[in-house]
Amino acid sequence: MSTKNIEFVIPPRPAHFVGDGFKVHNFIPSSHYLSMQRMSPFIMMDYNAPTYFPPTNTPRGVGVHPHRGFETVTIAYKGKVAHHDSSGNSGIIEPGEVQWMTAASGILHKEYHEKKFSEEGGDFQMVQLWVNLPAKDKMSQPKYQGLTKSDIQTVILPNNAGTINVIAGDYLGTKGAASTFTPIYLLDGKLNDGGIANFTFPSNYNTAVLVIEGEVKVNNSEVTPTDHFILMNNDGENFTVEGIGNAKILVLSGEPINEPIAAQGPFVMNTREEIMQAIQDYNIGKFGFLED
Ligand code: MN
Repeated sequence: MSTKNIEFVIPPRPAHFVGDGFKVHNFIPSSHYLSMQRMSPFIMMDYNAPTYFPPTNTPRGVGVHPHRGFETVTIAYKGKVAHHDSSGNSGIIEPGEVQWMTAASGILHKEYHEKKFSEEGGDFQMVQLWVNLPAKDKMSQPKYQGLTKSDIQTVILPNNAGTINVIAGDYLGTKGAASTFTPIYLLDGKLNDGGIANFTFPSNYNTAVLVIEGEVKVNNSEVTPTDHFILMNNDGENFTVEGIGNAKILVLSGEPINEPIAAQGPFVMNTREEIMQAIQDYNIGKFGFLED
C-alpha cells in the first residue's frame, strides 16, 4: 500500500448565514477545488465554526424547507439543534451526537437551535454534510437515524495519541453507528499534542480532513491551521494525522457515486427532468405537511 498525499489545503471562505441560526463556512461545493463530483458522495459541507449566539426567546434557525435525493448529516460539537420533519421524526442533537436524515423521495423539515440553549445563549459549533444517494435509492422511503453518544463507539488510540469516534464505516475493527447506502467513513477524532492517528481508505475514495480545533500535520508535512479543509489525493491508501497542540478533526472518505448530478437548491437528482418533477411535487404538496 502506498501513501495518500495532500492535494490541496483549502482555507475557509468568509462565513455566511443559513437562516439566522447557522453561520457557516461552505467548503463543498463553493470552493474552487471542491465540486459536488470531486468529493462525491459528499456533495455539500457547511461548517459553523464556534460562534457565540446571545440569549433569545425566539430560537434561531431555518424554517420549513424540502429536500429530495440525498441525506443530510448534522454533527453537533457545541450547542444543541432541534429538528422536526414531515415524516413525524423529531429530535434534539446534543454535542457529540449526529443526526443522519435520509430525505430520499422527499421530506419537509425545519432546523432550529434548541429552546433552552436559545434562552441561555452560548457557543454554537456544528457541521452539516449532504451525502448523495445513488440513482436507484433517490426515491426510496425517507428515514431518520438519531445517533446518540452511546450509539457512537470510541476507539482509544495507542500511545495516548487520542480517540476516534466512529460515526460511519469502521476504524481499527470498530464499526460505525450509521447505516449508509454507499460505503462511507465518517470519523470524529481528537488528537493529543504529538498524537498520531493512521488512516487507510481505498485510493479511489474521495477523502478529506477538516481541522475543527487546534492544528495538525498530515504525513508529517507543514502545519495546517484550524478551520482548514485538507483535500487528499486519490493516489494512495494511507496517511497520518498528527495533533499539534490538542486538535480535533473530522475525517471523511467515501466511494464516489459516478453518476450525473443535477442540483437545484434543496433538490439533488440525476437529470433536469427529475429536478422539474421535484419542484412540481413540492408545489402540489407531495412532500407532506409540517407546521411552521
Ligand atoms: Mn435542511
